[in-house]
Parts: sequence; C-alpha cells; structure tokens
Amino acid sequence: MASAFTDNNNVYASKFDKGHLPLPPANKLAVVTCMDARIDPAASLGINLGEAHVIRNAGGRAPDAVRSLVISQRLLGTREIAVFHHTDCGMLTFKSEELHDIIKKDASPEAVKAADAIGDFLAFPKIDENVKEDVEFLKGHPLILEGTKISGWVYHVETGKVSQVV
Ligand SMILES: [Zn+2]
Repeated sequence: MASAFTDNNNVYASKFDKGHLPLPPANKLAVVTCMDARIDPAASLGINLGEAHVIRNAGGRAPDAVRSLVISQRLLGTREIAVFHHTDCGMLTFKSEELHDIIKKDASPEAVKAADAIGDFLAFPKIDENVKEDVEFLKGHPLILEGTKISGWVYHVETGKVSQVV
C-alpha cells in the first residue's frame, strides 16, 4: 500500500491549492475521535482543511488525547472540544488485561515492561457511558482551559450518522 503513496500524492498535489492556510484552526475546534478506518471525520462533519484539529487514537479516548489538546488550546487557540466514540468500535471487544496477556505470551521482557508502562489500554464496554465519562474527564482536567465548550457524540458506522450524547 505504501508503495502507492507517491503516485497517489502526485495526483493530489497537482490539484492542491490550500498552501496558504494559517496554522491555527479557523474554527477553534478540536475533534477527538477513533482511529477506526471506516470513519472520515472531515467528510462526515463538514470540516474543511485548516478548520479543526482532528486527534485520533484507539477509541477516541480523551485521556489519550490530553497531550495534543493542551498544545491545541494553549499554542494554537482552540476553544471547543467534540469527543466522538462510535458503534462497533474495536475498543468494545476486549479488556485491557486481555491485551496485556496477549503481549506477555510471545513478547520480550522489554516489551512486557513497555506494555506495563502503558498500563490501561482504555478499552470500554458501553459507548454512551464512555462518551459521558470522557467529557467529564476533560471538564475536570486541570490542563483543559476553563470555559471550553465540550460536547460528546456517537458516530454510527452503519449509517454515517452522528448523534449527540452530551
Ligand atoms: Zn473505534
């Protein structure tokens, strides 16, 4: 797949005309969402190039996004956060301990130690509850700016629709 990058990029770059955009996101918005390959945050939410930060990780988990959010807010001026989790997320299918067990089975002692350093892989059993939990986490986080508008959403991979939870 990576072998096609250059060819694909040549096509993209030949039509590219957005090189003038400023660094800070125009909509002062940061979206936290899952890395799931079926989600296109920009297209599904109508976000154009230069308008928002999109922070992606496994599950769209807020605790995993704090480092990026601090940079987004303090250095690049965003003042709104939207947290998205989604239906059929891989994070609903395992428990953190199970992933630790998988790693312990065949990985080196160094790898096991590195996994221990990660600790919680932040899997979760219920989508809506976890969206609320992540929004509360951000609202109570000392590094997230006071007055930040924070909302929580679910993206439905079956329909492409979003619904607001909080
Ligand atoms: Zn997911």
